Amino acid sequence: MKNVGIIGATGSIGSQTMEVLRENRKAFNLTGISSHSNYKKTIEIIEEFSPEVVVVTEDNAYDIIKDYCKDKNKKLSLYRGIESLEKVSEIKENDILVTSVVGMVGLKPTMKAIENGTTIALANKETLVAGGRHVMEAARRRNVDILPVDSEHNALFQCLQGEKREDIKRLHITASGGPFRGKKKEELINITPEDAVRHPKWNMGMKISVDSSTLMNKGLEVIEAHWLYGVDYDKINVVVHPESIIHSMVEYKDNSIIAQLSNPNMKLPIQYALTYPKRIDCNIKELNLFDIGQLTFERPDTDTFTCLKLAYQAGKASGNAGVILNTSNEVAVDLFLNGVIKYLEINEIVERCLNNYEYMSKPTLEDIIQIDKRIRKDLYGLYLGGK
Ligand code: NDP
Ligand code: MG
Repeated sequence: MKNVGIIGATGSIGSQTMEVLRENRKAFNLTGISSHSNYKKTIEIIEEFSPEVVVVTEDNAYDIIKDYCKDKNKKLSLYRGIESLEKVSEIKENDILVTSVVGMVGLKPTMKAIENGTTIALANKETLVAGGRHVMEAARRRNVDILPVDSEHNALFQCLQGEKREDIKRLHITASGGPFRGKKKEELINITPEDAVRHPKWNMGMKISVDSSTLMNKGLEVIEAHWLYGVDYDKINVVVHPESIIHSMVEYKDNSIIAQLSNPNMKLPIQYALTYPKRIDCNIKELNLFDIGQLTFERPDTDTFTCLKLAYQAGKASGNAGVILNTSNEVAVDLFLNGVIKYLEINEIVERCLNNYEYMSKPTLEDIIQIDKRIRKDLYGLYLGGK
């Protein structure tokens, strides 16, 4: 039996993690969760899995859950606010922590769990983009595994089993191309949030759906792959593969390419991270190669989807460029989803921030946290008048 904690239990990845736990009751015990605003789902999880630690980061949802627990006489430790996310990371019994919060809020609780020696099942890619060096150094120091949940990185991880890192020639990260594949910049001027979150292959949270449409998601994944596998940026190749059947590939020095294929369903990578090094049955649709018929590949259009280019630039620059890229994108996507800016302003804001904020080659964790705060304050101040 593995003890599992989850930060971001109520989201898209969190809910699919619950499905995996539900289908394998004897293999897993849920120790603690965090949620933000979705109090209904939080209560459902409390009823179904009886976690001992519950953190609710939004005030209104916290109050509702507090009353609920009092009424029902629930014996659990309930905490409020962002600073309490670490309460889930600190649970001593945890064998593994699933990080499925969205955004850089995942950085501190991930670091805390690593310091405690807990294996990480990492969905929260923003944490690696912003603080990759610190996260990976801490993991090496504490001998902690970071097991990737992101489907591409999970695929790479599967393709790397039994192989030597020094034999890697190139990583090929596949991309569906998102809802606007084949469109040119002029056609993207009036894109609405509803258009942007309508992904052709995956049903995901709002922020990652917008990131997928701008190809920033692929850019974040390139940086994530760099930190996870220590591969240089010029050896990480993005391949548009609209069928989303091959989830990524590793090319070796003998020119052999190993790929991982399955129907697109996040339950598989979540489960593989949770059961690793074991494989167990997975309740997803089998892949029928005859039904698929053919697989296709294209080059990404980085003149239209400039976010991918910006992510490579930031990745290569290293230092604090990752956090600048990530935070400016988090805020820009939020402003876009709230109707404050137009779609094409997302990449303009990110580019401007990368050019304007002072570059630091070796930021401390505190430097990273501070620049994140500053960019948020500046951008929200500029676009919302400090609201
Ligand atoms: P969702 O938006 O569906 O869920 C996000 C989770 O984080 C929810 O539990 C939400 O709580 C919580 N949350 C939201 N805002 C905050 C906040 N300010 N502080 C603390 N918690 C917060 O996102 P996804 O599940 O789609 O994505 C989660 C992470 O996984 C992201 O980093 C994403 O890039 C990554 N990922 C997602 C994939 C997917 O298929 N969805 C695939 C690969 C990676 P509540 O719902 O209660 O408000
Ligand atoms: Mg992915």
